[in-house]
Amino acid sequence: MPARRTVGILGGGQLGRMLAHPAALLGVPLVILDAGLSTPAKQVLAPIPPQTHIDGPFTSSTHIRELAAQCDVLTVEIEHVNADVLEEIEKEGLCEVQPSPRTIRLIQDKYLQKEYLASKGVAVAPFEKVEKTEEGIKGVAARLGLPLMLKARTLAYDGRGNSPLQSVESGDIQKSLEFLGDRPLYAEGWAPFVKEVAVMVVRNTKGEVRSYDAVETIHRESILRVALAPLRAAGKGMENVNERARELAEKAVGCLEGAGIFGVEMFLMEDGSLLLNEIAPRPHNSGHHTIEACSTSQYENHLRAILSLPLGDTSLIVPSAAMINILGVSSSLSDVYAMADAALPIPGAKAHLYGKAESRKARKMGHITITAGSDASLREKMRPVLLAQSDLSA
Ligand code: ATP
Ligand code: MG
Ligand code: MG
Repeated sequence: MPARRTVGILGGGQLGRMLAHPAALLGVPLVILDAGLSTPAKQVLAPIPPQTHIDGPFTSSTHIRELAAQCDVLTVEIEHVNADVLEEIEKEGLCEVQPSPRTIRLIQDKYLQKEYLASKGVAVAPFEKVEKTEEGIKGVAARLGLPLMLKARTLAYDGRGNSPLQSVESGDIQKSLEFLGDRPLYAEGWAPFVKEVAVMVVRNTKGEVRSYDAVETIHRESILRVALAPLRAAGKGMENVNERARELAEKAVGCLEGAGIFGVEMFLMEDGSLLLNEIAPRPHNSGHHTIEACSTSQYENHLRAILSLPLGDTSLIVPSAAMINILGVSSSLSDVYAMADAALPIPGAKAHLYGKAESRKARKMGHITITAGSDASLREKMRPVLLAQSDLSA
């Protein structure tokens, strides 16, 4: 009998891969469910016999039940899983599920997530349901203004469910509708933020909550490119912004059931106020830096939280840190290695490659974390890495 309870993870991507290291340190057996024999997480995790990783979709009832049969606790590294089956498994007492399947289900639908958070008094950008017709979109644009962010309610990630609409000309509307496909939509008024901010929040099964210092996240075309820790924001209205972001993030997570780590994305407005963008019920890209830059990484704290172990210290242990995503440029893997290798000569830089067999434009292939003694030194160290990313330096 292993000394620890076995954790089953729905999803075997890079977030699962990064859970493997703290799991090994803590002696936690991990079993992965995902389609494919050599996903990023499965590559670095040998299951302890008779446990076996499962080759199948994390939306399939049969496969999720197969996972549950080998585990004590189920968790997710992606929210687009079958929440109904998880709820059944929890009710039947087959396995604990963390965070709660109800939280996962709520977050899966970005419109319901926003509606729920707004009902709890969490400030969000104005939003409305929208019908997928030209008339429907014109109506919502008249109320919320232009530009308008049209968003898929479901199956959205890395901005692939976002279409900014600049005008209500027929051609523009049709282009957006085509891009968003057959998913249900909603619309958000444009948030003219001065910065984007994210806070990782962890809560254990006893309800103990800790947050990490806020980071600034820099997106391009709705996809995260760079995260900077800690958040720096000066000027009128920006007083205590780190504390306020942490408070808002903790309040928002406090509205949700279940244990684990949550990534809370926010918009920082010109007057210093914060609007909540969305919550991820799992480890998050804007917390990758916590591996090198914090006492306890988001991954380790996720495992501690769902296994009812004491939570770890979330403090930053360096004055300044950056996380730079390595996004695919084309189908070429050599571009990806070139971007990672640019970090290798830099003191305090670490390259993380996810082992994905195929690259494609804008796919998350890896990231680089850089730590430094000051912001000035960090900027210096970031330069060669950014220069190696042709699309970022252009
Ligand atoms: P993730 O990969 O974080 O899950 P996602 O695909 O779920 O992303 P969002 O987080 O909703 O998408 O949006 C992605 C990015 O698009 C935001 O980080 C922000 O840069 C931009 N964005 C989203 N909503 C708005 C808005 N209402 N106004 C302005 N920009 C927005
Ligand atoms: Mg999202
Ligand atoms: Mg997001």
